[in-house]
Amino acid sequence: MTAVPRRMLVLGGGPVGVEMAQAVRRFGGEVALIEGAPNLLPRESGPLGEALAEVLRRDGIELFLGVRAAAARRENGEYVLDLGASGELRGDRLLVATGRRPRVDNIGLETVGVNADGRGVPVDSRLRASERLWAVGDITGIWPLTHVGKYQGEVVASNILGEPREADYDAVPRVVFTDPQAAAAGATDGRFSGTARLSELAKTETYTRAYAESNGFLTLLADGKRLTGAYALGPEAGEWLQQATLAIRARVPIEVLRDTIQPFPTFSEIYVEALKSLRGQIAATQQPVDVAAR
Ligand SMILES: Cc1cc2nc3c(=O)[nH]c(=O)nc-3n(C[C@H](O)[C@H](O)[C@H](O)COP(=O)(O)OP(=O)(O)OC[C@H]3O[C@@H](n4cnc5c(N)ncnc54)[C@H](O)[C@@H]3O)c2cc1C
Repeated sequence: MTAVPRRMLVLGGGPVGVEMAQAVRRFGGEVALIEGAPNLLPRESGPLGEALAEVLRRDGIELFLGVRAAAARRENGEYVLDLGASGELRGDRLLVATGRRPRVDNIGLETVGVNADGRGVPVDSRLRASERLWAVGDITGIWPLTHVGKYQGEVVASNILGEPREADYDAVPRVVFTDPQAAAAGATDGRFSGTARLSELAKTETYTRAYAESNGFLTLLADGKRLTGAYALGPEAGEWLQQATLAIRARVPIEVLRDTIQPFPTFSEIYVEALKSLRGQIAATQQPVDVAAR
């Protein structure tokens, strides 16, 4: 695009759709986004998509959630999306952000022992696709993210160099580069959950003023003893969620996390409150302690 669209239609509310929708809106174009699932970021936990929807609506983006486009056509120089019972939408630009598929057909992969399918090139835990043949990145159909591809590259290099190594996809971090960022790591739901709001952070006055209106938050998910997942909305959330990524990956006990000192005044302080909330949820399911009998 060489000019800001007058009105852009975005088909798909995944990471690419929401990032592009916000960018064009903030450049001054009108934007309408259509997502077939009930929430934005449908592969993530519902509350994350809901909170991001609030941000995008505040930006002035029209959201059509739980609405599927039945057909698209061009008419009088415009793109028209037919939304069935929800009517039609028109715009001078249409961005189709409904995902990517591997191109594996008709290039003779079967001749080198690779049985590619709709997901891409199947690999084992060492990323081996066939005899002396490895695959990394989106083509493996495993978490189509740059950092996952880079990690797989490291694993393959180790294996080729004779240091056997298996890929482990526990706690893969995902970051959506909207403003504020939406980030997630590990599982998307868990037995216990604890949430803290960014607006409640005991930060300096400057921070408090800046984020008092924010709907940012951190949710931690746990099995009772350790974190299993986490998601957050907030400035640079992709950075401070990495504490949770490491905790999930290293199976750090919740009691150690609770005893970890978070610096003042940082976004990381939100962990203190989220852990309090999480521990409260866990305690509520345990046997009550009879204090008088002690
Ligand atoms: C708009 C957008 C934004 C994204 N943002 C992020 C982000 O912020 N963070 C993140 O982690 N990930 C992001 N991703 C995903 C990220 O781009 C991919 O996970 C990453 O590029 C995968 O790397 P790859 O090397 O496996 O594949 P690719 O980067 O797709 O590279 C594959 C290359 O192979 C070439 N190719 C294909 N077939 C053939 C053939 N037959 N012969 C020769 N060449 C061929 C293609 O042209 C391409 O250049 C984004 C994706 C999109 C579309």
